[in-house]
This record gives sequence, C-alpha cells and structure tokens, in this order.
Amino acid sequence: MENITAIGFDLFNTLITIEPQTLSNAMDRLIDSLRQSGFLIEEESFKKNYREVSFRFVERAREDGRETHNSIWISAALENGGDPVSPDDIRIGKAVENYFSAFYDYCRIIPGTEEMLETLKSRYSLGLLSNFTHGPAAREILKRTGLIPYFKTILISGELGFRKPHPSVFQKLIEQLGTYKNQILYIGDDPAPDIHGAHAAGLQPIWSTIVRDNGIPMVPGILRSALDKPGFEVPTISSWDDLFILLNK
Ligand SMILES: [Mg+2]
Repeated sequence: MENITAIGFDLFNTLITIEPQTLSNAMDRLIDSLRQSGFLIEEESFKKNYREVSFRFVERAREDGRETHNSIWISAALENGGDPVSPDDIRIGKAVENYFSAFYDYCRIIPGTEEMLETLKSRYSLGLLSNFTHGPAAREILKRTGLIPYFKTILISGELGFRKPHPSVFQKLIEQLGTYKNQILYIGDDPAPDIHGAHAAGLQPIWSTIVRDNGIPMVPGILRSALDKPGFEVPTISSWDDLFILLNK
C-alpha cells in the first residue's frame, strides 16, 4: 500500500478484549454500588429493566449516530422500578464508575499488539477511535494497558457525542491525524461502524478478523453487530503479520 501516512484503530476486539465474565461481574458491581447508595434493588427485575432500556437506548444511538450513556440507562431502569432519579445524580455516577471498574480488572491486550504499535509508530501517525459510552473508562483502560503513548490522538465516542459510523467522528480523526483522508488506513473488527464508516468517510478500511479467527473471547455489545461481513471487497487481516504484509505491498 503506497502513500499511507497514518493509521487509525478501533479499540475493542481490535487491540484489546475483555474476559468473558466481565459484563456479569460489572453488573454485580453496579447493583452493589446502587445498594450501598441506599437504593432497594430487586436484582432480577432491575437486571431485566436495565437490559430492556439499554437495548432501547443503544438501538436509538445506532439509528441516529448520537452516543448514549450508561447513567441514562440506570436512571431509566430505576424509574421503571418505581424509583425516579436523575441520570446526573452522584449515586448514579458512582454506580457507572463501579460498573466499569470490572473492565479495568478484566481487559486484555491482544497478543503482539504492543510490538505491532511500536513498529508502526516510527513510520506512521497512529490514532485511536473507539465507540465507548463512558470516556473516562475508555481512557483508564488505555492507561492500564499501557497503550496511550502509541497514539497521536485518542477519540472516544462518549466524549465526541457521536459514534461510528457517523461521519463526524471520522472527520475528527482525519483532522487530528493532520493528513489527507485517502492516506489513512482504518482498522476495525465490526463491519458496520468500522468498515462502512471508514469507507464512507474516505479512509481506506482494513477488516480485522484477528479475534474471531484466533478463538479469542470477544467483547459482546449491547446489541448484536448490524453486519456479519463488510459486504464489499476490503483487505482483511487475521494476524498482525498480515497487516505488515499489506503495508509492505
Ligand atoms: Mg471493535
């Protein structure tokens, strides 16, 4: 690939994963936190409410591209259970922090990722663009996994207000990388947000199937991926070696 000067990366299921128990552990921490703040939670009905509202809000975010936030889901789930409380309530904020603390304990870097970034960093400007509702948690995960120094720019949907595939977030990535869009590769695992999003924004997408091809447990989304495959011809990598082969072509 010629004339490539910058590479953008997705985060979850592209550079890092979380262990399979993370989401249920995070939910336990969320419920514990709300109980400690004085809410009387009936576990099963709260979980059911939370599942339904989060599904609904994420679906809406997928439709209009505007990012949603966990505090809204918690507030709506509590309200459905007869306990109205503002998403801005400090107890909700605390519950969100406790929920994501499970991610800090169970996130794992995909093998070979640091070496890959180290090698590419001297040749390309690297950027990160992640769909993640709670910006501070994404940044803490990056800090704990030691990935921050590799990137010229780190963009999180929860801080931008919009999520991939919305063109505005890719536009921001292009600006931050400070180069022409057709000189930027974008690597991600999820066809709709990553591959279609990058392609529509004028970047060159690369589909990473590293996680699915190597039996690495995947980070589940609230909703299933909208697409199983990109549906058009796109370079695909199932190892970081594949990426180097593509780059040197
Ligand atoms: Mg991903």
